[in-house]
Order: sequence, then structure tokens, then C-alpha cells
Amino acid sequence: MIKQKEMLDIVDSYGDNITIATLGSHSALQILKGARDEGFSTLAICEKGREVAYKRFRVADDIMTLNSFKDVLNGDVIEELRARKALIVPHGSLLAYVGIQGIEEELVLPMVGNRSILRWEADRNLERQWLEKGGIRMPRETKNPREINGLSLVKFPGAKGGRGYFIVKNYADFQRKSSKMREKGKITVDDVANATIQEYIPGVNMYLSYFYSSLRDEVEFFGIDRRYEANIDGLTRIPAIDQADSFIEPSYVVVGNIPIVARESLLTRIFEMGDEIVRVSKSIAPPGMLGAFCLETMVDQNMEFIAFEISARIVAGTNPFTGGSPYSRIMYGPGMSMGRRIAREVKDALDSGRKKAIIT
Ligand code: AMP
Ligand code: AMP
Repeated sequence: MIKQKEMLDIVDSYGDNITIATLGSHSALQILKGARDEGFSTLAICEKGREVAYKRFRVADDIMTLNSFKDVLNGDVIEELRARKALIVPHGSLLAYVGIQGIEEELVLPMVGNRSILRWEADRNLERQWLEKGGIRMPRETKNPREINGLSLVKFPGAKGGRGYFIVKNYADFQRKSSKMREKGKITVDDVANATIQEYIPGVNMYLSYFYSSLRDEVEFFGIDRRYEANIDGLTRIPAIDQADSFIEPSYVVVGNIPIVARESLLTRIFEMGDEIVRVSKSIAPPGMLGAFCLETMVDQNMEFIAFEISARIVAGTNPFTGGSPYSRIMYGPGMSMGRRIAREVKDALDSGRKKAIIT
């Protein structure tokens, strides 16, 4: 694991002119815009062919183009980034393209947030321990298809991004559907063996975004989104009678995000869950959660939250709120996106000599 002390020394060597840098993907627009609003220089690290949004929205003072995002781990690229005084803001694409191992061992650049907690979101078992320790309900789960009792969602490991998920009622249904998917080449034998079979939670999804300020020791609630997923969100527009014999396989590939505001009485539990996540994080991965995180939940008709995932960094579900969310507006007035909140915390930490509270 890359040592925090080393990273803080690098930040010291930068002096006053720190550049907030991030991969040009995922939530980079608001990260860079927010950093600029807080007075930082900005750098977008782009993959060849994917620069256009960062150029056209003019959010980056500088654009570095790589053949592949993974090249950010190359020695000469890291050297160049240090020369440009880069402080990295991690997001979902950094995890997807660089990988957890790369972030922990090879990305020798200071980053915002706690590097060592990212593994707890990347590993399903660790993630479950974390949430359950915090008293947060999760869907029942099994690896053994014979144990299916009741409607279940079959999920595949890794970055399949919701592709190929399917719903089953029982073991026979699982066998029938998984062999059909295999025959079509949509999944492999290995996928089936490693599938996670999860209790299907009837309800609606809410992705809850929080910010934990370690400077103020307070969890702020930032906003809610739900994902817009192809094709499942379109399938429901086909009348049931036509759906039944359409033979369209559902998929859950995220293509956008939709903002949500929660019924106000849900906020009590929302804050309680955020506080618990942070409390537990301090013991499992010291110094614990620092900055942005997101709890991905279903809410059922009893107004109970059932979480199926946690992200220990900014999520793209904050993108509908580049000008601030209904909640951040109450705390901060207009204009406080999650990207900007991250930069504000970095600025406050630097100004008060408390880098250690947010940079690792
Ligand atoms: P991309 O840069 O679009 O190829 O996405 C990289 C990773 O970030 C993938 O694992 C995506 O699933 C995730 N991701 C990108 N955009 C979103 C989004 N709007 N909502 C949720 N996840 C996203
Ligand atoms: P994931 O890839 O885990 O983020 O999930 C993709 C989609 O499946 C999300 O829109 C979730 O709302 C939905 N989903 C995930 N887990 C469950 C579950 N246990 N029950 C019902 N829906 C779920």
C-alpha cells in the first residue's frame, strides 16, 4: 500500500500551486469545474478519442492525452503528473480502468480521500461486512442456485455493468435461463459458477450521496439519484401482453442518472445510515471514510432501506447536480456540486495545515 506520509511529502513539494487532476470520464466535468471554482488549476487526463467533452466544456486548464487510461500507471506519466503538481480525485472510472491493485500499489500520486478504503467497495464480501456492521440491511445472498427460494436477481462479478443480469424464481428457472444465456454466448460457464444470486427487493432505487468532512467531523447529505438503465427502463413501456412474448432479455446497463428528492421523513434514517457507515469505516480502514461516498439502496413499501452496494468515492449519480442539489442548496446556497465540495475540503485542509485529514 502506498504510504500516506510519502504522498503528503509530495504535496508539500508542490508548494502553493496544486492542480486538481482526474481521469476524463465519469464525473470529471463537475470535479474539474468545482476545483476551478475553488481556485485550483485543473487537469483532465484523457484517453485518446475521449477528449471532446473536456475541451468543449472548457473545464480543464490542461489536457493530457494517453493511449489508454491504464497508462496513467506508467512511470513517465506519473513523473509528468507530479511535475504538473497533480492531486488526483478518484472516481468510478479510475476504479474500472486502473483497478484497485493499481490504485493501492502503483498510482504513486497523492489523492483526495482514503486510498485504503476503496478495496472495501471493490470486494463484495468486505462491502457486506462494512454495511452489516453498521446495521444496514442488505439483500440475502447465495452462491448456490439450489438455495433459491423466491424471486432473485442473478448478478455477475466484475465490471459487467449490469449486462446479462437476469431474474429467476427457483432452481429450475435458474438452470433454464442460464443455459439459454450461455448458448447465446452472453455469459460463460465461469460467469455462472461465480454468479451472485441475490434476493430481489421489490421497491424503488435511491442512490444516496454523502460527504463526510473529516475537518468538521460531520456527515453531510448531498443528494439522491436513480439510474436510467437500458433496456430495463424502456421495457416497462411495452404493455405486459406484448412484453410476455417479446423475448427481450432485460439488462441493467447504466446510461444516465435521474435526480430524486426523498420524502422528508426518510431523512432521519438517511442520516443515521451515513453516520453509521462513517463510524464503522474508522475501525475497518483507518482513518476511515474521507469525503464523498454513496450508499446504493432499494426502498420498499415499508419505507425500509435495503442497501446492495456502497461506493467509497464520488459517484456519477451526483452529475445531475453540477449546479448544486436540492440538499446542498439548503446547506450552502446555490452552486455547491459534489465536485466543488471535494475541492472546498481540500482548500480548507491546505489553508489550516490539515492535509492529513483528506489526502492519502
Ligand atoms: P465510462 O467512463 O463511461 O466507460 O464508465 C466507467 C465506469 O464508471 C463504469 O464502470 C461505469 O459503470 C461507471 N459509470 C460511468 N457513468 C456512470 C453513471 N452515470 N452512473 C453510474 N455509473 C457510471
Ligand atoms: P448493480 O449492478 O448492482 O448496481 O445493480 C443494477 C440494477 O439492479 C440497479 O438498478 C438496482 O436497482 C437493481 N438491483 C440491484 N440489486 C437488486 C436487488 N437485490 N433487488 C432488486 N433490484 C436490484
